[in-house]
Amino acid sequence: MIAKVITDVSLDREFEYVVPPELEKVLRCGSAVVVPFGRSRREGYVLSLGQRAEFREDKLKAVSGLSPVRASIPEKLVELGRWMAEYYCCPLEHAIRTLLPAAVRNGKVRPLVRRIYSLADRAEAEKFVASHLADRRAEGRCALLRALLSGGDASSEELKRLPGFGDSALKTLLRHGLLVFREEMCRRDVFGDVEVIPDSPLEPTPDQANALAGIDRMLEHRSGVMLLHGVTNSGKTEVYLQAIASALARGRSAIVLVPEISLTPQTVRRFRARFGDDLSVLHSRLSDGERFDEWMRIASGKVKIAVGARSALFAPFSDLGLIVVDEEHESTYKQSESPRYHARDVAVMRGKMENACVILGSATPSAESMHNVSLGKFLLAEMRSQVGARPAPRFTVVDRRIGEPGGENGIFSPELVENVRRRLAGGAQAILFLSRRGYARTLRCPQCGYEACCPDCDVNYVYSKRRETLSCHLCGAVVPAPEICPQCKSPEIRYLGSGTEKIESVARALFPDARIARMDSDSMRGANDYEAVLDRFRRGEIDLLVGTQMIAKGLHFPNVTLVGILNADQNLSMPDFRASERAFQLITQVAGRAGRGDRPGEVVLQTFSPENDVIRYAAEGDFAGFSRFDLEFREMMKFPPFSRMIAVFFKGEDDAAVEAAARTFSAELAPYIRAGVTVAGPLRAPIERIRGKYRYLLTLRGDRLGTVRRALRVLALHRTFPGNVEISVDVDPLDFM
Ligand code: ADP
Ligand code: ZN
Ligand code: ZN
Repeated sequence: MIAKVITDVSLDREFEYVVPPELEKVLRCGSAVVVPFGRSRREGYVLSLGQRAEFREDKLKAVSGLSPVRASIPEKLVELGRWMAEYYCCPLEHAIRTLLPAAVRNGKVRPLVRRIYSLADRAEAEKFVASHLADRRAEGRCALLRALLSGGDASSEELKRLPGFGDSALKTLLRHGLLVFREEMCRRDVFGDVEVIPDSPLEPTPDQANALAGIDRMLEHRSGVMLLHGVTNSGKTEVYLQAIASALARGRSAIVLVPEISLTPQTVRRFRARFGDDLSVLHSRLSDGERFDEWMRIASGKVKIAVGARSALFAPFSDLGLIVVDEEHESTYKQSESPRYHARDVAVMRGKMENACVILGSATPSAESMHNVSLGKFLLAEMRSQVGARPAPRFTVVDRRIGEPGGENGIFSPELVENVRRRLAGGAQAILFLSRRGYARTLRCPQCGYEACCPDCDVNYVYSKRRETLSCHLCGAVVPAPEICPQCKSPEIRYLGSGTEKIESVARALFPDARIARMDSDSMRGANDYEAVLDRFRRGEIDLLVGTQMIAKGLHFPNVTLVGILNADQNLSMPDFRASERAFQLITQVAGRAGRGDRPGEVVLQTFSPENDVIRYAAEGDFAGFSRFDLEFREMMKFPPFSRMIAVFFKGEDDAAVEAAARTFSAELAPYIRAGVTVAGPLRAPIERIRGKYRYLLTLRGDRLGTVRRALRVLALHRTFPGNVEISVDVDPLDFM
């Protein structure tokens, strides 16, 4: 038998090895093995097994054995890894690497073992205690024995808490054979000590019942994808919970993907309340040890449900019945490094391969998913109203071109100021949203026209007043802010454009009595900052929360009755065919924070273009109208989902070398380009330089990109260009900058 093995260093190439007879029954696809490689040995994974070798068999080396440290990859996931490598044009090794958490793969983490002590011989122990009653030197030993005699077994932690405990006493007792111990594997506690009150399924609303009936049919047929389109608060999560229960009742397991930012204790609590602690929660703050334990528990079938961010998609269940992708439209499901996969799309593929069904949930589904519904590939279930028939938030669209602007630079319209004052006076809370952080976007000198930009990237620096710095949002460089123009020494430098930091400081001046906090990636640096601010907001210790996207995601604050959107145009002006979609999603999502309690919510939306279609649809809460409008535009322009796209980025420090590589690459690809495929570029990328590297972009668009993708993959992975030019292929790209 021949095994094809990928090693850690082989990138896109598998190597053949002979399987020795003693391993023939043991090896399977996904087995972690050790193989001879050059003069050394390497860890690797078996990706396929077969009878015939491509090379002469007597020249092949033999597999040395199973890896003593690594876990194997479940067989079905190997197939998914292969598909990802092909489809996303990444090295096979990158895709295989994605299937296992590093903590499991590297084999450095061990299971946590706890020692449990008991008594070897009761009578002997009792005799010892009785005969040492008056012996002060044996006090510790007697205390230990007495505790075990009265309480039975005890772990080392429990023993350590005894008064008078000493390591030497323990050792002496072990040496004299009065104590024995055994070792037990235990789980590192990922939930902390937080108690959760169990709950039970709610009586479904008619919309929920309809969705659940569809899901039951899918579970019965072991296939199908449902798009669950429901406004915020319409009870989608309750549907997920009951769908999971349904899958479990059929003896199958479930994966729930949520965007990392919504993986809050609130979310986790709801799952634990329904399913207890037999649940794995996989988030980025887990330690290696915790991640290892959770993976092992899933692989061994001890838990049936995994909830987590993107990578939880690869949870090693062997009997997967259901995958839920919550907020399926979220761009965080797309990984920005190789493999550049989209977790929603890979979820659909994993579902297909493992006969599991898939639920994609969203209040604002992606154009791709809506299109799949119209093609009949996805089933649609809709939930149109909020549970408890709460009204949708009321929108007031404020035209910023008219009226006397309030606050510095006119960031606050009089309507917004007045509305915030009224809410705060009434004891309610408000949220102010702006999608940009920092204080000002640009530092400019009116005398000589100087603009402060990052020397390594093709962007302006962002100014932070509080820190007195300029920073680059692309490479993270931070420099002190100048007090005079560095070019002409004029003291008149100006700051233009506003970010959340500016909003916060203007708000402090406008509403001096309000307790104000800001939430963006500048102010939320520590791991617990986010939760801490949310807790204070929830407890009513903050009146006004200013923030970016970070405040838009699935938070539940019943006392928030007003949401201010300071500049709705910001997202519309991006040079990207998804700009409308993103703006609509964002406005809808932020608006959803208003009025979740029993008080009605209001949204004040400031814009320079109140007649804009996207803003009108968003203000009317008309998703169907927006979706039709957006899909019509994309169909006319032949943008995805009416075509497929691939972006190829070329990067390097030598501008000319990068350009030359991009041109050569395009020329070599040209013979594979069929009719119906449109090529744009290579051109300088919209952001010409990041971290000192020049960037060029080639895009391909067409109905069928399979042929060109295969050629492109080979070129990108196996062809090298002079000048250290890096090539990255992005299939179904979300970012063209
Ligand atoms: P979504 O995920 O769509 O935002 P949730 O599932 O969180 O909605 O539901 C919103 C609120 O309504 C929650 O407090 C939930 O407990 C409640 N809820 C959901 N379904 C029902 C139901 N069938 N009956 C009563 N309350 C429900
Ligand atoms: Zn100047
Ligand atoms: Zn930079």
